[in-house]
Amino acid sequence: MQLRYFASRSPGRIGAAPARAAPDPDGESPQKGENQPSAPPPPSIAAPDARDAPDPRAILDSIGETVYDWDLPSDRIRWGPNAAALFGLATIDAIASGRLYADCLSHDSESSRHEAIARAASPGDGDGGAFRIRYGFVPPDRPREATIWIEDAGRWFKGPDGRPARAHGLVRIVADPCGQERPLAPHARLDPLTGALNRASLFEQTAHFFARSAKRKENFAALLAAVDNLFALNRTHGYDVADEAIAGLARRLRGNCRERDLVARYAGGKFALVLENCDKAETLAAANRLIEAIAATPFDTSAGPASLSLRIGGVVAPRNGRAAHLLFQYAEEALDLARQPNAPRVVLYEPSAAREEGRMRLRKISDEILAALDEDRIVIALQPLVDAASGLPASYEALVRLRRPDGMLVPPAAILPTAEKSGLIQRIDARVLDLAMQKLDRAPRLQLAVNLSGPSLRDPDFMARLCEKLTARPEIARRLTLEFSETCAMDDVEAATRVIAMLKHCGARVAMDDFGAGHTSFRNLRRFDFDLVKIDGAFVQNLGTSIDDRFFVRTLVDLARHLGLPVVAEWVEDAETAEILRQWGVEYLQGDFFGAAAVRDEDAP
Ligand code: C2E
Ligand code: CA
Ligand code: CA
Repeated sequence: MQLRYFASRSPGRIGAAPARAAPDPDGESPQKGENQPSAPPPPSIAAPDARDAPDPRAILDSIGETVYDWDLPSDRIRWGPNAAALFGLATIDAIASGRLYADCLSHDSESSRHEAIARAASPGDGDGGAFRIRYGFVPPDRPREATIWIEDAGRWFKGPDGRPARAHGLVRIVADPCGQERPLAPHARLDPLTGALNRASLFEQTAHFFARSAKRKENFAALLAAVDNLFALNRTHGYDVADEAIAGLARRLRGNCRERDLVARYAGGKFALVLENCDKAETLAAANRLIEAIAATPFDTSAGPASLSLRIGGVVAPRNGRAAHLLFQYAEEALDLARQPNAPRVVLYEPSAAREEGRMRLRKISDEILAALDEDRIVIALQPLVDAASGLPASYEALVRLRRPDGMLVPPAAILPTAEKSGLIQRIDARVLDLAMQKLDRAPRLQLAVNLSGPSLRDPDFMARLCEKLTARPEIARRLTLEFSETCAMDDVEAATRVIAMLKHCGARVAMDDFGAGHTSFRNLRRFDFDLVKIDGAFVQNLGTSIDDRFFVRTLVDLARHLGLPVVAEWVEDAETAEILRQWGVEYLQGDFFGAAAVRDEDAP
């Protein structure tokens, strides 16, 4: 007898009998100062004429290390005797100050020394605060490929005003970012498929552009470039071929940018570019050049040449956006416009009255969500997932609803996009989780699934609290499945992989939602280690009438089967669709045909 997914992992639960239904659900920076800091003395950077002593330059050279002493009020850095050689410079002048040195850091660096000091805990009297960071160093006027990776370990000391006044330490050359021995390596910040920055580090890196543009009094541009025919490519040739084209696209985008520009993978087929020293006209010209460069030549893939076309939304900063998250929010708005029928392929964001109206609306909905959270008017609707063989409910999915004071139920589509923009989504997810866990507590044989959003998934505090709750209630954790979409898993592959492992370690199960709607390669599906796959309802809905959809869903089912993953088909709306899916061996069915999502009376105020 096949052990079904929703079978409980503890003996004596519903898992023992697959045909048995799950029970009814009722049941902060240093500043220049005039005073010399009363800091402890710097490390002695030995003069090379000490005859009896061994030559420090030779020793340091041989181990690829050098020392420095940085006086923050004057910003002057004194370097060890071998520093120029170590960094591959003709003279030390190019890195003689903190600012000059910071200008050489590559954009995919984790942190600058300045940031590390600003972040470090306040040092006690005497010893100073320790820091250890890694970053890429690009010698001035050299290409990005000349980057060397540096580990910088030091201590900083405060002056009489309590601010950092002096730092000294040791820098050494370490392996490249993908080197195994780099425990703090930024490879966690690179997209594994394309080698471009991932989304998580994009925002952090964009901050450097604000600092640089302020210093140089220049504008820069943030672009979001989306492939507009990725879906067709996925469908025709499959994900692995689409992956090959995406990897080629990333290389070509990088090849068409300047050294200090930034290229990051923003989402599946969406790339973020940050371009130094660009005003409006230059941004438009650059975006059009990129579009032409991508369209000009197809990409080589194992299935033959694949053509990709781009649409680009952009914003000029700091004129039209003064924080990284705003820039990309505005670039998204512009990209939405560029994707409208008959729209130009490049649209640049311009502040407008209509947009202001949109913001007012956003505020209104956010207020409504906050009130609903305060007044316990966030409720859950449950929809059954039935065992395909028996037709009996094996589990239920908890779907959020906002109940207005007049009793009207507001669906997720009306609140979640705003909740995501205004940062309230984690609070909603947490509330839904609590409600679901309460329900599981009351109904000991119930199995429930809860949806998690991308921001919750990427929020370490959220995940830590969730794990705490699960660990405290192992019997409940066992009956809980957490669903998140393939798109949000793909936004940050490393984070998603970690989170999945963590949730499973806490005893819960994890399902990939909306499979087919995003861009998941076979490789990633395997890597993510999901327990269950849910095929996106949009492809299931028309199975009876669409040959294309039948072919596509069948491919997805085969893919999941190949990995030994049970499958749920969503949006099953009629008997014919249910029958096709049953014949394909799909394990679970969910949809209006078997029961729409409903709020139980017990949840009424
Ligand atoms: P989802 O996770 O894919 O959930 C399934 C959606 O399909 C639900 O919409 C459900 O009511 C709808 N549905 C079920 N059967 C059928 C059918 O036969 N035909 C059609 N056309 N639709 C069907 P709902 O409840 O409006 O939720 C929409 C989305 O909102 C969910 O899609 C999920 O992505 C998100 N969501 C819902 N609750 C939560 C939550 O608590 N947290 C987060 N982060 N997202 C949630
Ligand atoms: Ca779901
Ligand atoms: Ca879904």
